[in-house]
Amino acid sequence: MDKKSDSKKNNHKQKMQKLKESVDASIAAATTEKGIGILLTGDGKGKTSSALGMVLRSLGYGFKVGVVQFIKGAHPSGEAKFFLHNHPDITFHQMGTGFTWETQDRDGDIKAALETWAIAENMLKDESYYLVVLDELTYMLSFKYLDEERVLKTLNSRPKNQTVVVTGRGGGKALRDWADTVSEVKEVKHAFNSGIMAREGVDY
Ligand code: ATP
Ligand code: MG
Repeated sequence: MDKKSDSKKNNHKQKMQKLKESVDASIAAATTEKGIGILLTGDGKGKTSSALGMVLRSLGYGFKVGVVQFIKGAHPSGEAKFFLHNHPDITFHQMGTGFTWETQDRDGDIKAALETWAIAENMLKDESYYLVVLDELTYMLSFKYLDEERVLKTLNSRPKNQTVVVTGRGGGKALRDWADTVSEVKEVKHAFNSGIMAREGVDY
Protein backbone atom coordinates (compact mmCIF):
# COMPACT_ATOMS: atom_id res chain seq x y z
CA MET A 1 0.00 0.00 0.00
CA ASP A 2 1.53 3.36 -0.96
CA LYS A 3 1.61 6.38 1.34
CA LYS A 4 -0.92 8.32 -0.74
CA SER A 5 -3.65 5.69 -0.42
CA ASP A 6 -2.87 5.25 3.30
CA SER A 7 -3.44 8.94 3.96
CA LYS A 8 -6.63 8.87 1.85
CA LYS A 9 -7.93 6.04 4.03
CA ASN A 10 -7.00 7.90 7.22
CA ASN A 11 -8.70 11.07 6.02
CA HIS A 12 -11.85 9.11 5.22
CA LYS A 13 -11.82 7.41 8.65
CA GLN A 14 -11.42 10.77 10.43
CA LYS A 15 -14.24 12.32 8.38
CA MET A 16 -16.54 9.39 9.14
CA GLN A 17 -15.67 9.52 12.87
CA LYS A 18 -16.62 13.21 12.94
CA LEU A 19 -19.82 12.52 11.03
CA LYS A 20 -20.74 9.70 13.42
CA GLU A 21 -20.20 11.99 16.44
CA SER A 22 -22.49 14.59 14.91
CA VAL A 23 -25.19 12.05 13.93
CA ASP A 24 -25.04 10.40 17.39
CA ALA A 25 -25.35 13.82 19.10
CA SER A 26 -28.42 14.68 16.98
CA ILE A 27 -30.03 11.32 17.78
CA ALA A 28 -29.33 11.80 21.51
CA ALA A 29 -30.87 15.30 21.37
CA ALA A 30 -34.18 14.04 19.90
CA THR A 31 -35.87 12.88 23.09
CA THR A 32 -39.53 13.84 22.61
CA GLU A 33 -41.78 10.98 21.61
CA LYS A 34 -45.02 12.05 20.00
CA GLY A 35 -46.98 11.91 16.75
CA ILE A 36 -45.85 14.40 14.13
CA GLY A 37 -47.73 17.04 12.17
CA ILE A 38 -46.51 16.95 8.58
CA LEU A 39 -47.36 19.39 5.80
CA LEU A 40 -46.41 18.41 2.25
CA THR A 41 -46.90 21.37 -0.01
CA GLY A 42 -45.45 23.12 -3.08
CA ASP A 43 -46.21 22.97 -6.81
CA GLY A 44 -44.19 19.89 -7.81
CA LYS A 45 -45.28 16.25 -8.08
CA GLY A 46 -44.83 14.06 -5.03
CA LYS A 47 -47.06 15.25 -2.17
CA THR A 48 -49.82 12.64 -2.20
CA SER A 49 -47.44 9.89 -3.23
CA SER A 50 -45.16 10.73 -0.30
CA ALA A 51 -48.11 10.60 2.09
CA LEU A 52 -49.02 7.19 0.68
CA GLY A 53 -45.45 6.08 1.31
CA MET A 54 -46.00 6.76 5.02
CA VAL A 55 -49.30 4.86 4.84
CA LEU A 56 -47.39 1.87 3.50
CA ARG A 57 -44.78 2.15 6.27
CA SER A 58 -47.39 2.34 9.01
CA LEU A 59 -49.35 -0.61 7.63
CA GLY A 60 -46.08 -2.53 7.55
CA TYR A 61 -45.91 -2.23 11.33
CA GLY A 62 -49.56 -3.24 11.70
CA PHE A 63 -50.79 0.24 12.66
CA LYS A 64 -54.27 1.49 11.86
CA VAL A 65 -54.39 4.22 9.21
CA GLY A 66 -57.04 6.67 8.03
CA VAL A 67 -56.91 8.39 4.67
CA VAL A 68 -59.34 11.13 3.71
CA GLN A 69 -59.02 12.59 0.21
CA PHE A 70 -60.69 15.96 -0.14
CA ILE A 71 -60.55 16.41 -3.92
CA LYS A 72 -60.69 13.78 -6.58
CA GLY A 73 -61.10 13.68 -10.31
CA ALA A 74 -63.27 11.50 -12.49
CA HIS A 75 -60.90 8.49 -12.45
CA PRO A 76 -60.71 6.41 -9.28
CA SER A 77 -57.10 6.60 -8.14
CA GLY A 78 -54.88 3.53 -7.87
CA GLU A 79 -54.67 4.01 -4.10
CA ALA A 80 -58.48 4.02 -3.81
CA LYS A 81 -58.68 0.80 -5.84
CA PHE A 82 -56.02 -0.82 -3.68
CA PHE A 83 -57.09 0.29 -0.21
CA LEU A 84 -60.80 -0.28 -0.67
CA HIS A 85 -60.24 -3.93 -1.44
CA ASN A 86 -56.96 -5.04 0.01
CA HIS A 87 -56.28 -3.92 3.55
CA PRO A 88 -58.18 -4.42 6.80
CA ASP A 89 -56.12 -1.85 8.78
CA ILE A 90 -57.06 1.15 6.64
CA THR A 91 -60.13 3.36 6.58
CA PHE A 92 -60.24 5.16 3.27
CA HIS A 93 -62.65 7.92 2.32
CA GLN A 94 -62.86 10.09 -0.77
CA MET A 95 -64.93 13.26 -0.98
CA GLY A 96 -65.76 12.09 -4.45
CA THR A 97 -67.34 15.24 -5.84
CA GLY A 98 -64.71 15.75 -8.53
CA PHE A 99 -62.51 18.77 -9.09
CA THR A 100 -64.05 22.04 -8.05
CA TRP A 101 -63.61 23.52 -11.55
CA GLU A 102 -65.69 20.61 -12.86
CA THR A 103 -68.50 20.68 -10.30
CA GLN A 104 -68.83 24.49 -10.54
CA ASP A 105 -71.18 24.27 -7.59
CA ARG A 106 -69.88 26.09 -4.52
CA ASP A 107 -72.75 25.18 -2.19
CA GLY A 108 -72.58 21.51 -3.17
CA ASP A 109 -68.78 21.53 -2.70
CA ILE A 110 -69.10 23.11 0.74
CA LYS A 111 -71.66 20.52 1.80
CA ALA A 112 -69.38 17.71 0.60
CA ALA A 113 -66.36 19.29 2.31
CA LEU A 114 -68.20 19.52 5.63
CA GLU A 115 -69.41 15.91 5.40
CA THR A 116 -65.91 14.76 4.56
CA TRP A 117 -64.40 16.83 7.36
CA ALA A 118 -66.78 15.15 9.82
CA ILE A 119 -65.23 11.80 8.84
CA ALA A 120 -61.72 13.21 9.30
CA GLU A 121 -62.72 14.71 12.65
CA ASN A 122 -63.78 11.30 13.95
CA MET A 123 -60.37 9.89 13.05
CA LEU A 124 -58.62 12.84 14.69
CA LYS A 125 -60.44 12.07 17.95
CA ASP A 126 -59.72 8.35 17.85
CA GLU A 127 -56.37 7.30 19.27
CA SER A 128 -56.57 3.91 17.59
CA TYR A 129 -55.55 5.72 14.38
CA TYR A 130 -51.75 5.84 14.36
CA LEU A 131 -51.58 7.80 11.10
CA VAL A 132 -54.18 10.05 9.45
CA VAL A 133 -53.67 11.47 5.96
CA LEU A 134 -55.73 14.52 4.99
CA ASP A 135 -55.00 14.63 1.28
CA GLU A 136 -55.57 17.97 -0.51
CA LEU A 137 -56.97 19.53 2.68
CA THR A 138 -55.19 22.83 1.93
CA TYR A 139 -57.67 23.62 -0.86
CA MET A 140 -60.64 23.28 1.50
CA LEU A 141 -59.05 26.05 3.57
CA SER A 142 -57.96 28.30 0.71
CA PHE A 143 -61.42 28.06 -0.94
CA LYS A 144 -62.88 28.71 2.51
CA TYR A 145 -65.02 25.57 2.31
CA LEU A 146 -63.84 24.73 5.82
CA ASP A 147 -63.15 27.06 8.72
CA GLU A 148 -59.39 27.22 9.35
CA GLU A 149 -59.77 27.83 13.07
CA ARG A 150 -61.99 24.77 13.53
CA VAL A 151 -59.61 22.61 11.50
CA LEU A 152 -56.56 23.75 13.46
CA LYS A 153 -58.29 23.31 16.78
CA THR A 154 -59.06 19.69 15.89
CA LEU A 155 -55.52 19.09 14.59
CA ASN A 156 -54.05 20.52 17.79
CA SER A 157 -56.24 18.49 20.11
CA ARG A 158 -55.67 15.13 18.39
CA PRO A 159 -54.28 12.17 20.37
CA LYS A 160 -50.65 12.69 21.41
CA ASN A 161 -49.21 9.76 19.49
CA GLN A 162 -51.17 10.29 16.29
CA THR A 163 -49.29 11.50 13.22
CA VAL A 164 -51.20 13.60 10.71
CA VAL A 165 -50.08 14.30 7.16
CA VAL A 166 -51.72 17.20 5.31
CA THR A 167 -51.07 17.60 1.59
CA GLY A 168 -51.83 20.22 -1.04
CA ARG A 169 -50.45 23.41 -2.53
CA GLY A 170 -50.48 26.59 -0.48
CA GLY A 171 -51.55 25.78 3.02
CA GLY A 172 -51.11 29.16 4.62
CA LYS A 173 -49.20 30.31 7.68
CA ALA A 174 -51.41 28.69 10.32
CA LEU A 175 -50.88 25.19 8.87
CA ARG A 176 -47.14 25.78 8.51
CA ASP A 177 -46.97 26.90 12.13
CA TRP A 178 -48.97 23.86 13.23
CA ALA A 179 -46.78 21.35 11.40
CA ASP A 180 -43.58 19.94 12.95
CA THR A 181 -42.30 18.97 9.51
CA VAL A 182 -42.96 21.05 6.40
CA SER A 183 -41.69 19.99 2.97
CA GLU A 184 -42.19 22.06 -0.11
CA VAL A 185 -41.98 20.02 -3.32
CA LYS A 186 -40.62 22.28 -6.03
CA GLU A 187 -41.52 21.74 -9.67
CA VAL A 188 -38.40 21.55 -11.78
CA LYS A 189 -40.36 20.10 -14.68
CA HIS A 190 -43.46 17.95 -15.12
CA ALA A 191 -44.16 15.56 -18.01
CA PHE A 192 -47.73 16.87 -18.44
CA ASN A 193 -46.40 20.28 -19.39
CA SER A 194 -44.61 18.77 -22.38
CA GLY A 195 -47.77 17.07 -23.56
CA ILE A 196 -47.35 13.64 -21.95
CA MET A 197 -50.63 12.20 -20.66
CA ALA A 198 -51.10 11.49 -16.93
CA ARG A 199 -50.46 7.80 -16.30
CA GLU A 200 -52.43 5.24 -14.33
CA GLY A 201 -50.46 4.05 -11.33
CA VAL A 202 -48.03 6.95 -11.61
CA ASP A 203 -50.12 10.10 -11.53
CA TYR A 204 -53.38 8.74 -10.13
P1 ATP B 1 -48.81 12.95 -6.72
O1 ATP B 1 -50.21 12.48 -6.37
O2 ATP B 1 -48.39 12.41 -8.04
O3 ATP B 1 -47.84 12.75 -5.61
P2 ATP B 1 -49.12 15.68 -5.90
O4 ATP B 1 -49.99 15.21 -4.81
O5 ATP B 1 -47.81 16.27 -5.53
O6 ATP B 1 -48.91 14.52 -6.97
P3 ATP B 1 -51.31 17.30 -6.84
O7 ATP B 1 -51.26 18.78 -6.93
O8 ATP B 1 -52.16 16.69 -5.81
O9 ATP B 1 -49.81 16.79 -6.77
O10 ATP B 1 -51.72 16.80 -8.26
C1 ATP B 1 -52.06 15.50 -8.56
C2 ATP B 1 -51.91 15.22 -10.03
O11 ATP B 1 -51.38 16.33 -10.75
C3 ATP B 1 -50.90 14.09 -10.31
O12 ATP B 1 -51.38 13.43 -11.45
C4 ATP B 1 -49.62 14.80 -10.61
O13 ATP B 1 -48.75 14.07 -11.45
C5 ATP B 1 -50.12 16.05 -11.29
N1 ATP B 1 -49.21 17.17 -11.02
C6 ATP B 1 -48.58 17.45 -9.88
N2 ATP B 1 -47.79 18.54 -10.01
C7 ATP B 1 -47.93 18.95 -11.28
C8 ATP B 1 -47.38 20.02 -12.05
N3 ATP B 1 -46.49 20.85 -11.51
N4 ATP B 1 -47.76 20.13 -13.35
C9 ATP B 1 -48.64 19.28 -13.88
N5 ATP B 1 -49.21 18.27 -13.22
C10 ATP B 1 -48.86 18.08 -11.92
MG1 MG C 1 -51.92 15.41 -4.28
